[in-house]
Amino acid sequence: MMDDTAVARPNAWIILAGHPDAPAHLTFERFSRWSRLSRTMLWAFTWFVSTVATFLITAFDPFMTLMPFFVGAVMTFRSWQGRFRVTAFQGACPRCNKPIEIKPGSRIASPHPLVCYGCHFEPTLHLAA
Ligand SMILES: [Zn+2]
Repeated sequence: MMDDTAVARPNAWIILAGHPDAPAHLTFERFSRWSRLSRTMLWAFTWFVSTVATFLITAFDPFMTLMPFFVGAVMTFRSWQGRFRVTAFQGACPRCNKPIEIKPGSRIASPHPLVCYGCHFEPTLHLAA
């Protein structure tokens, strides 16, 4: 994909309350429903096995068991939420105009929370459908 067309046609917006929306350009792969489902099932399985294993290994200690339970819940939820895999991103903070980075390979949903390292505000990224 050409860079100049990317700037001319933003397909995402960085939104921060009280500031004009900043255009952003994102290239991404959309996960198919099946790949998302199978990935989430794998996390759910890992979640279940690690929770049960910790429960047995710690001799039924509920506090130790809470750890893999919560980590597993978060990972499973995140996996389900991650609809897009970012391949490239260009965008700047609506407040201080510093470029904001999203690591290629990140799994995101829309809206996606961002952190600006220039002004430490937290705008959100919205994909234009
Ligand atoms: Zn900023």
